[in-house]
Amino acid sequence: MNLEQRVAHVEERIRAACARSGRPREDVRLIAVTKYVSLETTRRLMELGCSHIGENRWQDAAGKWEALQGAGTWHFLGTLQTNKVKDVVGKFAYIHSLDRLSLAKEIEKRAAQRGIRVDCFIQVNVSGEQTKHGIAPDELPAFAREVSNCEHLRVVGLMTMAPHVEDAEQTRPVFRELRRLRDDLNEAGIFKEAVPHLSMGMSNDFEVAIEEGATWIRLGSVLTGTTAGR
Ligand SMILES: *Cc1c(COP(=O)(O)O)cnc(C)c1O
Repeated sequence: MNLEQRVAHVEERIRAACARSGRPREDVRLIAVTKYVSLETTRRLMELGCSHIGENRWQDAAGKWEALQGAGTWHFLGTLQTNKVKDVVGKFAYIHSLDRLSLAKEIEKRAAQRGIRVDCFIQVNVSGEQTKHGIAPDELPAFAREVSNCEHLRVVGLMTMAPHVEDAEQTRPVFRELRRLRDDLNEAGIFKEAVPHLSMGMSNDFEVAIEEGATWIRLGSVLTGTTAGR
């Protein structure tokens, strides 16, 4: 398949998963993860209608971001070192990897300096795998309460990464749990406005994630055909 066919094929699979779960297609937004691909492929993905671009390292994203300035909406997905926050704030509209208070404070500081507000997802380590980043589920309410005091940082949702397994069906409990955690946060009224989003689902498991309520899916290899670095 070429890139255009891949994008079309993914779109079909998203539509089918939405239909299966009785959700409108517009409820699910796609982030094209371009960390494995070149500037040219990133540009081509945008031409094919993928306007949300995801990267997980500033060092890898910088060249593309600079070449494409102003185009698209950028999502920062990876572990964010505190000393990289200044590079990311103002360029990436969304940060999906808010996982500690020191990071929240640095985002708050840099966003305040620029007079902007950054939309963030709290990353939750639902699966409990030691290799995964994220807040432990039982620490989430206290963390959310602290972060709710940051005026230049808006929590718009929760994010998780499911374990990489052969059978995507096995990821379902992880996604279901993230949804429950979001609903609990909203019920507890920790944020002034309800937190609407769930960033969950990657190439291997996005259909299950959609069935469990994902509102943002983050797709790399299934869109681009490349898994360099894996
Ligand atoms: C790389 C990456 C993705 C995309 O992974 P694929 O399996 O290639 O779809 C999604 N989310 C995060 C946080 C990533 O680092």
